[in-house]
Amino acid sequence: MAYSYDAQNIFAKILRGEIPSAPVLETEHSLAFNDINPQAPVHVLVIPKGPYVCYDHFAMEASEAEIVDFTRAVGEICKMTGVQPGEGGNGFRLIANAGPDGVQEVPHLHVHVLGGRVLGRMLPPAG
Ligand code: AMP
Repeated sequence: MAYSYDAQNIFAKILRGEIPSAPVLETEHSLAFNDINPQAPVHVLVIPKGPYVCYDHFAMEASEAEIVDFTRAVGEICKMTGVQPGEGGNGFRLIANAGPDGVQEVPHLHVHVLGGRVLGRMLPPAG
């Protein structure tokens, strides 16, 4: 089943300027802004400007230019927020939730860049 993109999702509205946002980075194909409900001192969302529902949708259907731009934007956010372990930062975690098991709330691809504190183990215990 092909993905069906809901153009009324909140990130689509941000991209169209219908909802205010404070971008921390904008590139040709990507936008990054602080999460409205931060879970860590650094919590930035990076989204592609194109209509992609989740990561696999983007990985399979986006152009090479979009993929390169998005990947570089994530790297730039790591640099801007000072979390790069190779540059003296303490590290970070990337999360891209997808679908019901991933508990994705907003159906527009977004990568969470989290850092600024010890983030704990990868997943909480099952059960
Ligand atoms: P997810 O569960 O991965 O879909 O997470 C969606 C994220 O979007 C949550 O962390 C929300 O806090 C965040 N979010 C929802 N609305 C906004 C908004 N208007 N601006 C910034 N972040 C938002």
